[in-house]
Amino acid sequence: MYSVIYKRLISVFLLISAGALAFLYFFFLSYSNSLKEEKRAQSKYISEVGIGIIESFYILASQGEVSVEDAQTLAMNALESATFGENGYYWINSGDGVLLMQPYTPERVGINQIDWVDSNGAQVFRDFIGKAKNGGGWVSYSWPKPHSDLEYPKISYISYFKPWDWALGTGIYLDDMLENIHRIILKASGVLLVSFISFVVLVLLLVNYFVRQLEDVAIRDTLTNLYTKRFLGEILPTIISRRQRDKENLLAIIFLDIDHFKSINDRFGHKCGDEVLAKVAKVMVDNIRSNDYCVRFGGEEFVIVGFFENEEAAFNCAERVRRKTSRLKFKHNHVAFDITISAGVAINDDDESFQEALSRADEKLYYAKHSGRNIVVV
Ligand code: GH3
Ligand code: MG
Ligand code: MG
Repeated sequence: MYSVIYKRLISVFLLISAGALAFLYFFFLSYSNSLKEEKRAQSKYISEVGIGIIESFYILASQGEVSVEDAQTLAMNALESATFGENGYYWINSGDGVLLMQPYTPERVGINQIDWVDSNGAQVFRDFIGKAKNGGGWVSYSWPKPHSDLEYPKISYISYFKPWDWALGTGIYLDDMLENIHRIILKASGVLLVSFISFVVLVLLLVNYFVRQLEDVAIRDTLTNLYTKRFLGEILPTIISRRQRDKENLLAIIFLDIDHFKSINDRFGHKCGDEVLAKVAKVMVDNIRSNDYCVRFGGEEFVIVGFFENEEAAFNCAERVRRKTSRLKFKHNHVAFDITISAGVAINDDDESFQEALSRADEKLYYAKHSGRNIVVV
C-alpha cells in the first residue's frame, strides 16, 4: 500500500521536474534575450554619453574658451581613454569616412576607410555613416578585437555629432556578450537547481516522515503501542508461511481478556482503565520473544501470536503473563486495587486455518471465564 504511494509520488515528482525543466528552458530563452537587449541598450546609452562629452567640448569652443581644434583634440583624448567593460571603447570617424580616433588601431587613424570591407565583404564605414546621419542606429560587422588581428562579429551603435560632422561609435563583440550571458545564466541555473533539489529533498523527507507516521498509526494501537487487529490481518501470510517452514516449533494463539474490566472503569474512571490497559500490554510485551506478536484485538482483549516448542511452552507463556498481571499493583485516589486476566490457548497446525484456531482460543477463553476467571485454559 505504501509502496504504491511512493510510486505515485515519484511519478508526480518526475512530472514536476519535467515541468520545471521546460519552465527553466523557456525562462532562460527569454532571460537570455532580455540580457542581449540590455547589453545593446547599454551600448546605445554609452554612445549617447560619448556624444554628451563631445558636446561639452563643443560648447567650450563656442564660448571662445578654447579653439575648435583644441576642443576637438580634447574631446578625442577624453574618449580615447574612456575604455570600459570587456573590450569596450569609442571610435570616431568623419562624415566622409576618415578614421579620426580609434584607441587600438592607430595605424588606421587619419586614413579614409570608406572602401574598407570586413571579412564578409560588408562596407562597414558606409553603413556607419548612413546610420549616423539618419539619427543613429545599429550596425553589425566584423572588426579585430583590441590587441588582436583576428576579426570578430560585433554590433555597434553609431551616433552623429553634426556640428563637427563626426560619427561616434561604440559596440560589443558578440562572443564577449554571449560568454557574459552564459556566465550569468550558468550562475542563475546553479542557484535555481540547488534550490529546486533542496525543495524536492525537503518535500520527500516530509512526505516520508508523514507516511511513516501514518504507517505507525495503522500498525500500532496508540494507547498500548501493541499491533492492531488490522496489522495482524496484513502480517498473517508471513505468519502462515513461517508456520509451514518451521518444523521445530508450533504456532500458538493465546487469547487474553481482562477480568471484570468494566467494573474498573465504573469504579475508577475510564482514564484509570486506560492506564490498566497500557500496563497489561507492557507485561505481555515483556514476556514474549522479539519475533512473536502482541495484538490489541478489541477493547480489553488481546491476542499473542507466537512460536513455541510445544503446547506446554505456549501455556507457560500465557500463565506467566497471567501471574505477572495478577501481581501488578494499582492505586487510584488512595484506593489500591489489582486485576486479573483469563486466557485461552490454541495450537494452530497445518490442517486448520488460522481463523479456526483463533476461534478455538476464544472458546477456551470463554471456558476460563466460566471456570471462575484468572486462569489459562489449553
Ligand atoms: P469479563 O471478565 O467477562 O471480561 O468482564 P468485563 O467487564 O471485562 O467485560 P465487558 O465486555 O463487559 O466490558 C469490557 C469493558 O471494557 C467495556 C468497555 O467500556 C471497556 N473498554 C473497552 N475499550 C476500552 C478502552 O480503550 N479504555 C477503557 N478505559 N475501557 C475500555
Ligand atoms: Mg473482560
Ligand atoms: Mg471482553
